[in-house]
Amino acid sequence: METRYRIWNPAMECMDRPRLAELQAERLRATAEHVYNRVEPLRQRMDSAGVRPDHIKRVADIRHLPFMEKTDLRDFYPFGLFAVPMDQIVRLHATSGTTGKPTVTGYTGQDLDHWTEMMARTVTAGGAGAGDIIQIAYGYGMFTGGLGVHQGATRVGAAVAPTSSGNTERQIMFMRDFGTTMLACTPSYALHIGETIRELGIPLSELKLKYGIFGAEPWTAQMRVEIEKLLGVRAIDIYGMAEICGPGVATECYAQDGMHIAEDHVIPEIIDQVTGEPLPYGQAGELVLTAITKRGMPMIRYRTHDIATLNPEPCVCGRTHMRITRLTGRTDDMLIIRGVNVFPSQIEAVLVGIHGVAPHYMLVVGREGALDTLEVQVEVTEAMFSDEVRRLEALEREISAKILSVVGVSARVRLVGPRQIGRSEGKAQRVRDNRKP
Ligand code: ADP
Ligand code: ZN
Repeated sequence: METRYRIWNPAMECMDRPRLAELQAERLRATAEHVYNRVEPLRQRMDSAGVRPDHIKRVADIRHLPFMEKTDLRDFYPFGLFAVPMDQIVRLHATSGTTGKPTVTGYTGQDLDHWTEMMARTVTAGGAGAGDIIQIAYGYGMFTGGLGVHQGATRVGAAVAPTSSGNTERQIMFMRDFGTTMLACTPSYALHIGETIRELGIPLSELKLKYGIFGAEPWTAQMRVEIEKLLGVRAIDIYGMAEICGPGVATECYAQDGMHIAEDHVIPEIIDQVTGEPLPYGQAGELVLTAITKRGMPMIRYRTHDIATLNPEPCVCGRTHMRITRLTGRTDDMLIIRGVNVFPSQIEAVLVGIHGVAPHYMLVVGREGALDTLEVQVEVTEAMFSDEVRRLEALEREISAKILSVVGVSARVRLVGPRQIGRSEGKAQRVRDNRKP
Protein backbone atom coordinates (compact mmCIF):
# COMPACT_ATOMS: atom_id res chain seq x y z
CA MET A 1 0.00 0.00 0.00
CA GLU A 2 1.23 3.48 -0.73
CA THR A 3 2.56 5.31 2.29
CA ARG A 4 0.18 8.23 1.83
CA TYR A 5 -2.63 5.89 2.78
CA ARG A 6 -1.28 4.84 6.11
CA ILE A 7 -3.54 3.77 8.95
CA TRP A 8 -3.11 5.92 12.03
CA ASN A 9 -3.80 3.31 14.69
CA PRO A 10 -3.69 -0.19 13.20
CA ALA A 11 -3.98 -1.84 16.64
CA MET A 12 -7.46 -0.35 17.00
CA GLU A 13 -8.55 0.20 13.40
CA CYS A 14 -7.60 -3.31 12.27
CA MET A 15 -8.42 -5.20 15.48
CA ASP A 16 -9.91 -8.63 14.87
CA ARG A 17 -13.68 -8.64 15.24
CA PRO A 18 -14.00 -11.02 18.22
CA ARG A 19 -11.59 -8.90 20.27
CA LEU A 20 -13.31 -5.74 19.16
CA ALA A 21 -16.66 -7.17 20.30
CA GLU A 22 -15.20 -7.87 23.74
CA LEU A 23 -13.82 -4.38 23.99
CA GLN A 24 -17.13 -2.87 22.91
CA ALA A 25 -19.11 -4.94 25.42
CA GLU A 26 -16.79 -3.91 28.23
CA ARG A 27 -16.93 -0.23 27.28
CA LEU A 28 -20.69 -0.33 26.78
CA ARG A 29 -21.24 -1.77 30.24
CA ALA A 30 -18.96 0.83 31.82
CA THR A 31 -20.81 3.59 29.99
CA ALA A 32 -24.21 2.28 31.10
CA GLU A 33 -22.93 2.23 34.66
CA HIS A 34 -21.52 5.74 34.42
CA VAL A 35 -24.83 7.03 33.10
CA TYR A 36 -26.90 5.08 35.61
CA ASN A 37 -24.92 6.50 38.51
CA ARG A 38 -24.61 10.06 37.30
CA VAL A 39 -27.36 11.19 34.92
CA GLU A 40 -30.65 11.31 36.78
CA PRO A 41 -33.06 11.55 33.80
CA LEU A 42 -31.36 8.62 32.07
CA ARG A 43 -31.32 6.54 35.25
CA GLN A 44 -35.06 7.00 35.55
CA ARG A 45 -35.50 5.83 32.00
CA MET A 46 -33.38 2.76 32.54
CA ASP A 47 -35.38 1.97 35.65
CA SER A 48 -38.66 2.20 33.83
CA ALA A 49 -37.27 0.01 31.04
CA GLY A 50 -36.22 -2.45 33.75
CA VAL A 51 -32.57 -2.47 32.68
CA ARG A 52 -29.55 -2.17 34.93
CA PRO A 53 -25.90 -1.79 33.91
CA ASP A 54 -25.05 -5.36 34.94
CA HIS A 55 -27.59 -6.65 32.42
CA ILE A 56 -25.19 -5.54 29.70
CA LYS A 57 -22.98 -8.53 28.98
CA ARG A 58 -22.65 -8.51 25.22
CA VAL A 59 -22.90 -5.86 22.51
CA ALA A 60 -26.32 -7.23 21.49
CA ASP A 61 -27.65 -6.32 24.95
CA ILE A 62 -27.53 -2.72 23.78
CA ARG A 63 -31.09 -3.11 22.56
CA HIS A 64 -32.36 -3.28 26.15
CA LEU A 65 -31.24 0.31 26.67
CA PRO A 66 -33.68 3.15 25.95
CA PHE A 67 -33.13 5.47 22.97
CA MET A 68 -32.06 9.08 23.23
CA GLU A 69 -33.47 11.75 20.93
CA LYS A 70 -32.43 15.22 19.88
CA THR A 71 -35.40 16.52 21.86
CA ASP A 72 -33.75 15.14 25.04
CA LEU A 73 -30.82 17.44 24.41
CA ARG A 74 -33.17 20.34 23.95
CA ASP A 75 -35.24 19.46 27.03
CA PHE A 76 -32.15 19.31 29.23
CA TYR A 77 -30.42 22.28 27.58
CA PRO A 78 -27.73 23.26 28.30
CA PHE A 79 -26.06 20.95 30.84
CA GLY A 80 -28.80 18.66 32.16
CA LEU A 81 -27.30 15.51 30.62
CA PHE A 82 -23.73 16.10 31.74
CA ALA A 83 -22.34 13.25 33.81
CA VAL A 84 -19.43 15.03 35.46
CA PRO A 85 -19.12 18.26 37.46
CA MET A 86 -18.15 21.38 35.54
CA ASP A 87 -14.60 21.33 36.89
CA GLN A 88 -14.00 18.25 34.73
CA ILE A 89 -15.42 19.78 31.56
CA VAL A 90 -12.80 21.41 29.36
CA ARG A 91 -14.70 22.20 26.16
CA LEU A 92 -18.21 23.07 25.06
CA HIS A 93 -19.51 22.78 21.51
CA ALA A 94 -22.92 23.00 19.88
CA THR A 95 -24.63 21.60 16.79
CA SER A 96 -25.04 23.94 13.85
CA GLY A 97 -28.74 24.14 14.52
CA THR A 98 -29.68 23.03 11.01
CA THR A 99 -32.96 21.63 12.28
CA GLY A 100 -33.78 23.91 15.19
CA LYS A 101 -32.34 25.24 18.42
CA PRO A 102 -28.73 24.14 18.77
CA THR A 103 -27.85 21.53 21.34
CA VAL A 104 -24.80 21.63 23.56
CA THR A 105 -22.18 19.04 24.22
CA GLY A 106 -19.41 18.96 26.85
CA TYR A 107 -16.05 17.17 26.80
CA THR A 108 -13.76 16.02 29.57
CA GLY A 109 -10.03 16.15 28.86
CA GLN A 110 -10.15 12.47 28.02
CA ASP A 111 -13.16 12.92 25.70
CA LEU A 112 -11.21 15.58 23.86
CA ASP A 113 -8.25 13.26 23.59
CA HIS A 114 -10.40 10.47 22.14
CA TRP A 115 -11.96 12.82 19.64
CA THR A 116 -8.53 14.03 18.60
CA GLU A 117 -7.46 10.42 18.10
CA MET A 118 -10.53 9.76 15.93
CA MET A 119 -9.74 12.82 13.85
CA ALA A 120 -6.10 11.81 13.51
CA ARG A 121 -7.42 8.61 11.91
CA THR A 122 -9.61 10.67 9.58
CA VAL A 123 -6.79 12.92 8.44
CA THR A 124 -4.54 9.89 7.90
CA ALA A 125 -7.27 8.03 6.00
CA GLY A 126 -7.59 11.09 3.77
CA GLY A 127 -3.93 10.74 2.84
CA ALA A 128 -2.18 13.41 4.92
CA GLY A 129 0.45 13.29 7.65
CA ALA A 130 3.56 15.09 8.82
CA GLY A 131 4.93 17.18 5.96
CA ASP A 132 1.50 18.02 4.61
CA ILE A 133 -0.09 21.44 4.79
CA ILE A 134 -3.72 21.21 5.75
CA GLN A 135 -6.00 24.14 5.13
CA ILE A 136 -9.02 23.99 7.37
CA ALA A 137 -11.87 25.90 5.80
CA TYR A 138 -14.55 24.43 8.03
CA GLY A 139 -15.98 27.05 10.35
CA TYR A 140 -14.13 27.43 13.64
CA GLY A 141 -16.18 28.17 16.72
CA MET A 142 -19.04 26.32 18.35
CA PHE A 143 -19.38 24.16 15.22
CA THR A 144 -17.23 21.06 15.68
CA GLY A 145 -15.86 20.97 12.11
CA GLY A 146 -13.03 23.49 12.39
CA LEU A 147 -11.56 22.55 15.75
CA GLY A 148 -12.18 18.84 15.19
CA VAL A 149 -10.05 18.68 12.06
CA HIS A 150 -7.58 21.07 13.67
CA GLN A 151 -6.92 18.73 16.58
CA GLY A 152 -6.53 15.66 14.38
CA ALA A 153 -4.29 17.43 11.88
CA THR A 154 -2.10 18.71 14.69
CA ARG A 155 -1.83 15.26 16.22
CA VAL A 156 -0.59 13.67 12.99
CA GLY A 157 2.05 16.37 12.79
CA ALA A 158 0.80 18.19 9.71
CA ALA A 159 1.15 21.96 9.34
CA VAL A 160 -2.24 23.49 9.94
CA ALA A 161 -3.50 26.62 8.19
CA PRO A 162 -6.64 27.46 10.21
CA THR A 163 -8.29 29.70 7.61
CA SER A 164 -11.84 28.89 8.78
CA SER A 165 -14.64 29.33 6.26
CA GLY A 166 -15.28 32.32 4.04
CA ASN A 167 -13.22 34.90 2.15
CA THR A 168 -12.76 32.55 -0.75
CA GLU A 169 -10.19 34.50 -2.75
CA ARG A 170 -7.99 34.79 0.29
CA GLN A 171 -8.35 31.04 0.83
CA ILE A 172 -7.12 30.49 -2.70
CA MET A 173 -4.23 32.91 -2.25
CA PHE A 174 -2.98 30.99 0.79
CA MET A 175 -3.60 27.72 -0.95
CA ARG A 176 -1.32 28.77 -3.78
CA ASP A 177 1.31 30.60 -1.72
CA PHE A 178 1.64 27.93 0.97
CA GLY A 179 1.33 24.94 -1.32
CA THR A 180 -1.59 23.50 0.65
CA THR A 181 -1.81 19.74 0.09
CA MET A 182 -5.06 18.92 1.89
CA LEU A 183 -8.29 20.90 1.99
CA ALA A 184 -10.90 20.30 4.69
CA CYS A 185 -14.36 21.89 4.39
CA THR A 186 -17.95 21.10 3.50
CA PRO A 187 -18.43 19.63 0.01
CA SER A 188 -20.54 22.61 -1.02
CA TYR A 189 -17.77 24.98 -0.02
CA ALA A 190 -15.20 22.80 -1.77
CA LEU A 191 -17.25 23.14 -4.93
CA HIS A 192 -17.41 26.90 -4.51
CA ILE A 193 -13.65 27.15 -3.95
CA GLY A 194 -13.04 24.95 -6.99
CA GLU A 195 -15.24 27.08 -9.21
CA THR A 196 -13.61 30.26 -7.99
CA ILE A 197 -10.17 28.85 -8.80
CA ARG A 198 -11.39 28.15 -12.29
CA GLU A 199 -12.93 31.60 -12.66
CA LEU A 200 -9.72 33.25 -11.51
CA GLY A 201 -7.98 31.31 -14.26
CA ILE A 202 -5.52 29.63 -11.91
CA PRO A 203 -4.30 26.38 -13.42
CA LEU A 204 -4.29 23.42 -11.04
CA SER A 205 -0.59 22.99 -11.80
CA GLU A 206 0.04 26.12 -9.71
CA LEU A 207 -1.52 24.42 -6.69
CA LYS A 208 -0.22 21.46 -4.72
CA LEU A 209 -3.60 20.13 -3.61
CA LYS A 210 -3.79 16.34 -3.41
CA TYR A 211 -6.29 15.40 -0.74
CA GLY A 212 -9.68 16.56 0.46
CA ILE A 213 -11.70 15.54 3.51
CA PHE A 214 -15.25 16.77 3.06
CA GLY A 215 -18.37 16.24 5.12
CA ALA A 216 -20.90 17.72 7.56
CA GLU A 217 -23.65 17.62 4.91
CA PRO A 218 -24.96 15.13 2.35
CA TRP A 219 -23.31 15.03 -1.06
CA THR A 220 -23.59 12.62 -3.92
CA ALA A 221 -21.07 10.42 -5.72
CA GLN A 222 -21.64 12.61 -8.76
CA MET A 223 -20.72 15.70 -6.77
CA ARG A 224 -17.54 13.99 -5.64
CA VAL A 225 -16.45 13.50 -9.26
CA GLU A 226 -17.10 17.17 -9.92
CA ILE A 227 -15.13 18.35 -6.88
CA GLU A 228 -12.21 16.01 -7.56
CA LYS A 229 -11.98 17.36 -11.09
CA LEU A 230 -12.19 21.00 -10.04
CA LEU A 231 -9.62 20.76 -7.24
CA GLY A 232 -7.40 17.94 -8.46
CA VAL A 233 -7.78 16.04 -5.18
CA ARG A 234 -8.85 12.63 -4.03
CA ALA A 235 -11.92 13.48 -1.98
CA ILE A 236 -13.17 11.38 0.88
CA ASP A 237 -16.38 11.60 2.83
CA ILE A 238 -16.30 12.19 6.58
CA TYR A 239 -19.18 12.04 9.01
CA GLY A 240 -20.05 12.95 12.54
CA MET A 241 -22.15 15.14 14.75
CA ALA A 242 -21.62 17.34 17.78
CA GLU A 243 -23.75 15.12 20.00
CA ILE A 244 -21.29 12.23 19.66
CA CYS A 245 -18.08 14.28 19.42
CA GLY A 246 -18.05 16.01 16.03
CA PRO A 247 -16.41 14.77 12.82
CA GLY A 248 -14.45 11.54 13.17
CA VAL A 249 -17.38 9.25 13.91
CA ALA A 250 -16.98 7.68 10.47
CA THR A 251 -14.47 8.17 7.67
CA GLU A 252 -13.96 6.78 4.21
CA CYS A 253 -10.67 5.18 3.30
CA TYR A 254 -8.91 5.49 -0.06
CA ALA A 255 -11.24 2.78 -1.40
CA GLN A 256 -14.01 5.44 -1.36
CA ASP A 257 -16.59 2.78 -0.71
CA GLY A 258 -18.31 3.62 2.55
CA MET A 259 -17.20 5.19 5.82
CA HIS A 260 -15.54 3.11 8.54
CA ILE A 261 -17.14 3.78 11.92
CA ALA A 262 -14.66 4.24 14.77
CA GLU A 263 -16.13 1.18 16.44
CA ASP A 264 -13.83 1.17 19.45
CA HIS A 265 -15.48 4.47 20.42
CA VAL A 266 -18.93 4.25 18.85
CA ILE A 267 -21.37 1.35 18.41
CA PRO A 268 -23.63 1.72 15.34
CA GLU A 269 -27.08 0.21 14.88
CA ILE A 270 -29.55 0.54 12.03
CA ILE A 271 -33.17 0.54 13.07
CA ASP A 272 -36.55 0.72 11.47
CA GLN A 273 -37.57 4.32 11.97
CA VAL A 274 -41.14 3.48 12.77
CA THR A 275 -40.89 0.40 14.96
CA GLY A 276 -37.44 1.04 16.44
CA GLU A 277 -36.50 -2.59 15.72
CA PRO A 278 -32.96 -3.39 14.57
CA LEU A 279 -32.60 -4.04 10.83
CA PRO A 280 -30.28 -6.60 9.24
CA TYR A 281 -27.03 -5.58 7.55
CA GLY A 282 -27.53 -4.14 4.12
CA GLN A 283 -30.94 -2.73 4.81
CA ALA A 284 -31.34 1.05 4.92
CA GLY A 285 -32.73 2.58 8.09
CA GLU A 286 -32.05 5.14 10.77
CA LEU A 287 -28.54 5.18 12.15
CA VAL A 288 -28.39 4.95 15.94
CA LEU A 289 -25.10 5.65 17.70
CA THR A 290 -23.82 4.86 21.18
CA ALA A 291 -20.65 6.59 22.35
CA ILE A 292 -18.82 4.07 24.52
CA THR A 293 -15.87 6.11 25.72
CA LYS A 294 -17.52 9.47 26.28
CA ARG A 295 -17.77 10.65 29.87
CA GLY A 296 -18.66 14.37 29.87
CA MET A 297 -22.01 13.95 28.19
CA PRO A 298 -22.59 10.26 27.45
CA MET A 299 -24.87 9.38 24.54
CA ILE A 300 -26.65 6.06 24.50
CA ARG A 301 -28.58 4.81 21.48
CA TYR A 302 -28.82 8.26 20.02
CA ARG A 303 -31.26 8.45 17.12
CA THR A 304 -29.41 10.48 14.51
CA HIS A 305 -32.30 10.75 12.03
CA ASP A 306 -29.69 10.02 9.36
CA ILE A 307 -30.50 7.25 6.89
CA ALA A 308 -27.73 4.75 6.21
CA THR A 309 -26.89 1.11 5.58
CA LEU A 310 -24.34 -0.91 7.56
CA ASN A 311 -21.80 -2.96 5.64
CA PRO A 312 -19.87 -5.55 7.69
CA GLU A 313 -17.82 -6.87 4.70
CA PRO A 314 -14.04 -6.70 5.08
CA CYS A 315 -12.47 -3.74 3.29
CA VAL A 316 -9.45 -3.77 0.99
CA CYS A 317 -7.74 -1.17 3.19
CA GLY A 318 -7.33 -3.65 6.07
CA ARG A 319 -9.51 -1.81 8.57
CA THR A 320 -11.94 -4.14 10.30
CA HIS A 321 -14.42 -1.50 11.43
CA MET A 322 -17.79 -1.69 9.72
CA ARG A 323 -18.74 0.80 7.08
CA ILE A 324 -21.83 2.89 6.57
CA THR A 325 -22.84 3.77 3.06
CA ARG A 326 -22.90 7.35 1.87
CA LEU A 327 -25.74 9.14 3.63
CA THR A 328 -28.70 9.99 1.50
CA GLY A 329 -29.80 12.68 3.90
CA ARG A 330 -31.52 13.10 7.19
CA THR A 331 -35.12 12.14 7.66
CA ASP A 332 -35.76 15.79 8.59
CA ASP A 333 -34.63 16.82 5.07
CA MET A 334 -36.91 14.39 3.35
CA LEU A 335 -39.61 16.15 1.43
CA ILE A 336 -42.93 14.50 0.82
CA ILE A 337 -44.21 15.78 -2.49
CA ARG A 338 -47.65 14.48 -3.39
CA GLY A 339 -46.93 11.39 -1.34
CA VAL A 340 -43.50 10.71 -2.88
CA ASN A 341 -40.45 10.79 -0.62
CA VAL A 342 -37.78 13.03 -2.09
CA PHE A 343 -34.30 13.73 -0.78
CA PRO A 344 -32.47 16.75 -2.16
CA SER A 345 -29.53 14.44 -2.84
CA GLN A 346 -31.62 12.49 -5.38
CA ILE A 347 -32.20 15.66 -7.35
CA GLU A 348 -28.51 16.49 -7.06
CA ALA A 349 -27.60 13.11 -8.51
CA VAL A 350 -29.77 13.84 -11.54
CA LEU A 351 -28.43 17.34 -12.10
CA VAL A 352 -24.71 16.79 -11.76
CA GLY A 353 -23.48 15.54 -15.06
CA ILE A 354 -26.15 17.04 -17.33
CA HIS A 355 -24.35 19.05 -19.96
CA GLY A 356 -24.79 22.80 -19.65
CA VAL A 357 -25.90 22.62 -16.02
CA ALA A 358 -23.85 23.83 -13.04
CA PRO A 359 -24.20 21.79 -9.84
CA HIS A 360 -26.12 24.51 -8.00
CA TYR A 361 -29.77 24.09 -7.27
CA MET A 362 -32.59 25.05 -4.98
CA LEU A 363 -35.81 23.17 -4.37
CA VAL A 364 -38.82 25.35 -3.81
CA VAL A 365 -41.83 23.52 -2.47
CA GLY A 366 -45.28 25.05 -2.42
CA ARG A 367 -48.93 24.18 -2.55
CA GLU A 368 -51.58 25.00 -5.11
CA GLY A 369 -54.98 24.07 -3.78
CA ALA A 370 -54.56 20.60 -2.34
CA LEU A 371 -51.52 19.76 -4.46
CA ASP A 372 -47.87 20.06 -3.52
CA THR A 373 -45.70 21.72 -6.11
CA LEU A 374 -41.99 21.34 -6.63
CA GLU A 375 -39.92 23.84 -8.50
CA VAL A 376 -36.32 22.95 -9.16
CA GLN A 377 -34.18 26.00 -9.81
CA VAL A 378 -31.03 25.06 -11.62
CA GLU A 379 -28.08 27.15 -12.65
CA VAL A 380 -26.83 26.85 -16.19
CA THR A 381 -23.33 27.52 -17.39
CA GLU A 382 -22.38 30.83 -19.02
CA ALA A 383 -22.17 29.22 -22.46
CA MET A 384 -25.57 27.64 -22.15
CA PHE A 385 -27.16 30.77 -20.73
CA SER A 386 -26.24 32.83 -23.78
CA ASP A 387 -27.62 30.18 -26.08
CA GLU A 388 -30.96 30.30 -27.86
CA VAL A 389 -34.18 30.18 -25.88
CA ARG A 390 -35.18 27.07 -27.81
CA ARG A 391 -32.18 25.20 -26.45
CA LEU A 392 -32.87 26.32 -22.91
CA GLU A 393 -36.42 25.09 -23.15
CA ALA A 394 -35.22 21.76 -24.41
CA LEU A 395 -32.84 21.55 -21.46
CA GLU A 396 -35.66 22.28 -19.02
CA ARG A 397 -37.69 19.49 -20.53
CA GLU A 398 -34.74 17.11 -20.40
CA ILE A 399 -34.12 17.77 -16.70
CA SER A 400 -37.77 17.53 -15.83
CA ALA A 401 -38.08 14.17 -17.60
CA LYS A 402 -34.98 12.83 -15.85
CA ILE A 403 -36.29 13.88 -12.43
CA LEU A 404 -39.59 12.20 -13.16
CA SER A 405 -38.00 8.94 -14.23
CA VAL A 406 -35.35 8.78 -11.49
CA VAL A 407 -37.08 10.35 -8.49
CA GLY A 408 -40.66 9.65 -9.49
CA VAL A 409 -42.00 13.14 -9.01
CA SER A 410 -42.93 15.75 -11.56
CA ALA A 411 -41.21 19.05 -11.08
CA ARG A 412 -41.19 22.39 -12.80
CA VAL A 413 -37.64 23.20 -13.79
CA ARG A 414 -36.57 26.82 -13.87
CA LEU A 415 -33.17 27.56 -15.33
CA VAL A 416 -31.36 30.52 -13.86
CA GLY A 417 -28.19 32.28 -14.93
CA PRO A 418 -24.69 31.75 -13.57
CA ARG A 419 -24.26 32.76 -9.88
CA GLN A 420 -28.00 33.20 -9.34
CA ILE A 421 -28.13 30.58 -6.61
CA GLY A 422 -26.45 31.45 -3.33
CA ARG A 423 -23.08 29.84 -2.59
CA SER A 424 -22.37 28.11 0.67
CA GLU A 425 -19.34 28.51 2.89
CA GLY A 426 -20.67 25.98 5.39
CA LYS A 427 -23.66 23.70 5.14
CA ALA A 428 -25.65 24.40 1.98
CA GLN A 429 -29.34 25.33 2.16
CA ARG A 430 -31.05 23.61 -0.73
CA VAL A 431 -34.71 23.63 0.17
CA ARG A 432 -37.29 26.36 0.61
CA ASP A 433 -40.51 24.81 1.80
CA ASN A 434 -43.27 27.38 1.54
CA ARG A 435 -45.86 24.90 2.80
CA LYS A 436 -44.60 25.36 6.32
CA PRO A 437 -46.15 28.17 8.31
P1 ADP B 1 -26.75 19.98 13.00
O1 ADP B 1 -27.59 18.77 13.28
O2 ADP B 1 -27.26 21.22 13.64
O3 ADP B 1 -26.45 20.17 11.53
P2 ADP B 1 -24.00 19.09 13.37
O4 ADP B 1 -23.20 20.22 12.88
O5 ADP B 1 -23.48 18.34 14.52
O6 ADP B 1 -25.39 19.65 13.75
O7 ADP B 1 -24.24 18.14 12.14
C1 ADP B 1 -24.45 16.76 12.19
C2 ADP B 1 -25.29 16.30 11.03
O8 ADP B 1 -24.69 16.68 9.78
C3 ADP B 1 -25.41 14.80 10.92
O9 ADP B 1 -26.39 14.28 11.77
C4 ADP B 1 -25.75 14.61 9.45
O10 ADP B 1 -27.13 14.83 9.22
C5 ADP B 1 -24.97 15.70 8.77
N1 ADP B 1 -23.71 15.15 8.24
C6 ADP B 1 -22.49 15.20 8.81
N2 ADP B 1 -21.56 14.61 8.02
C7 ADP B 1 -22.22 14.13 6.93
C8 ADP B 1 -21.82 13.41 5.75
N3 ADP B 1 -20.56 13.06 5.51
N4 ADP B 1 -22.79 13.08 4.86
C9 ADP B 1 -24.09 13.44 5.08
N5 ADP B 1 -24.51 14.13 6.15
C10 ADP B 1 -23.60 14.47 7.07
ZN1 ZN C 1 -11.44 0.70 4.04
